Amino acid sequence: MIKDGSLQLIGKARELASKISTDVTAIMLGHNLGDVVKEPIYYGADRVIYVDHPALAKYVPHIYSNVIVQLANKYKPEIILFAATKRGGRELAPYVANTLRTGITADCTELDVDPKTRDLDQVRPTYGGNILAHIRTPNRRPQLASVRPNVFPTPPRDTSRKGEIIAEAIESLPNINGQGLIEVKSVVKGEELPPVEKADVVVVAGRGVGSADGVKLLTELAKLLGGTIGGTKKVVDAGWLAADRQVGQTGKTIRPTLYIGVGVSGAIQHVFGMKESKIIVAINSDPNAPIFQYADYGIVGDYRDIVKELIELLKNYKK
Ligand SMILES: Cc1cc2nc3c(=O)[nH]c(=O)nc-3n(C[C@H](O)[C@H](O)[C@H](O)COP(=O)(O)OP(=O)(O)OC[C@H]3O[C@@H](n4cnc5c(N)ncnc54)[C@H](O)[C@@H]3O)c2cc1C
Repeated sequence: MIKDGSLQLIGKARELASKISTDVTAIMLGHNLGDVVKEPIYYGADRVIYVDHPALAKYVPHIYSNVIVQLANKYKPEIILFAATKRGGRELAPYVANTLRTGITADCTELDVDPKTRDLDQVRPTYGGNILAHIRTPNRRPQLASVRPNVFPTPPRDTSRKGEIIAEAIESLPNINGQGLIEVKSVVKGEELPPVEKADVVVVAGRGVGSADGVKLLTELAKLLGGTIGGTKKVVDAGWLAADRQVGQTGKTIRPTLYIGVGVSGAIQHVFGMKESKIIVAINSDPNAPIFQYADYGIVGDYRDIVKELIELLKNYKK
């Protein structure tokens, strides 16, 4: 299965490519890939280059980056985009950029291209989101950028689209065991609830929930709603929730149908990651909390009373 963050990049790449009259190529690495190699075409790519090899069955950063570098040296792309996931954007992309001796702009929120210079305009917030930096790499190619999942919409899937599919055989691969660098023994999935960027309903815990027990209560609400739990940076920093559940500028960008922020003040860095939610509900004891400026529905009061009441209602509704 291809992650949404990658499919979203195909849509953006399509737009950029049309401005500089070039085409969009998707790279896929793995083992026993099967028909999934056709998927990028359905989402807007002109071409898919894939490498199917047992050594690529599990993601190992130095092996994956080695293959991408070999492909980049052969096909000479002007731009390479990565989804800013933990693996793709934070680990793999810098590996590739360093080997290719080029720059990378991480966590872009907008991308454009100058048709004259063909420079990629890489836009990302900086200084706590107070300014937007426009970063260009005029002297190096390829230009590398990563974009967080859900910053761009997923293009529609059109199975009537046609494109070129190229199977690449990579001749030399580094030692699968990483020449002592990294060896993947097993992959353990520990999460019970869906990740925040995937769920249709996200209940977000803010510092106002007061403790890990408060987060537990909200998790119960999230489960009853068929959704998942997220948190603000303060909640993650307090150790009440895992870092991959942080919503905001330095966390995940989410676009759920329903966002419920509980004990969340509505700081700009948090709002950045949730403002595209369809329906925003805020529960806060302070009627002047900034989150209410973004909310479709606001409830003022102590979250414990309100959330317990909601849980009771939902339990009775489900009976
Ligand atoms: C560079 C940078 C990046 C950042 N990135 C992120 C990010 O990705 N995500 C993020 O979230 N933040 C981020 N922050 C932090 C951000 O600025 C805020 O500090 C943070 O979002 C505030 O978290 P909060 O709303 O949980 O806590 P607070 O601002 O402390 O708000 C707590 C709220 O809970 C309410 N409350 C208290 N008790 C109750 C109760 N019993 N019932 C109901 N409500 C109650 C209060 O009225 C208050 O509004 C970043 C900051 C910087 C500088």
